[in-house]
Amino acid sequence: MASETEKTHALLQSCSTESLLSSFGLGIFCLVADRLLQFSTIQQNTWLRALSDNAVHCVIGMWSWAVVIGVKKKTDLGEIILAGFLASIIDIDHFFLAGSLSLKAALTLPRRPSLHCSTVIPIVALALKLAMHLFKLKDSWCFLPWMLFISWTSHHIRDGIRHGLWLCPFGKTSPVPFWLYVIITSSLPHICSFVMCLTGTRQVLSSKHGIRIDV
Ligand SMILES: [Zn+2]
Repeated sequence: MASETEKTHALLQSCSTESLLSSFGLGIFCLVADRLLQFSTIQQNTWLRALSDNAVHCVIGMWSWAVVIGVKKKTDLGEIILAGFLASIIDIDHFFLAGSLSLKAALTLPRRPSLHCSTVIPIVALALKLAMHLFKLKDSWCFLPWMLFISWTSHHIRDGIRHGLWLCPFGKTSPVPFWLYVIITSSLPHICSFVMCLTGTRQVLSSKHGIRIDV
């Protein structure tokens, strides 16, 4: 169990000036990216629209994780790329449900595909945490359930602007207001860092990534 001093240090790191500026930048990116996607050149080409939309999910996932760990070493890039991959890969379930590689079929589904159900996120993250505990995976992978949680949640919140959040089996919410999406996305890394402090995960990350205290 982490000592109180370690917890305090980890908490200070998650609120460092650098980290707050990075998440402010993330909020600006969210504001700008979806405006840029409205350009008619992108909107008129289905593939370009789908790929750029997915690329924005990927960048948000990468940026969010970068806020959590801070980027200090080249090796941190591997984790950041993995976070982006997790944030964008879930759109593949459109093709699974369509049973086809046709983009038209994937975009005109009769219902939303399973990985877009938001109640799946905590279930998969907890199952992953349990599996890692059972199989005694090393501390160096303790970040994975958190990374999955942040990457998938950021994807769902952004999709929620158009479709609302699908909380199966309870139904779905109305569309998420754009301003709320920006606030949630930019504060999500800090909220998760805070909970990670309480569970001791962030202290492991801090020593792994050498995050310095900058307050
Ligand atoms: Zn999606």
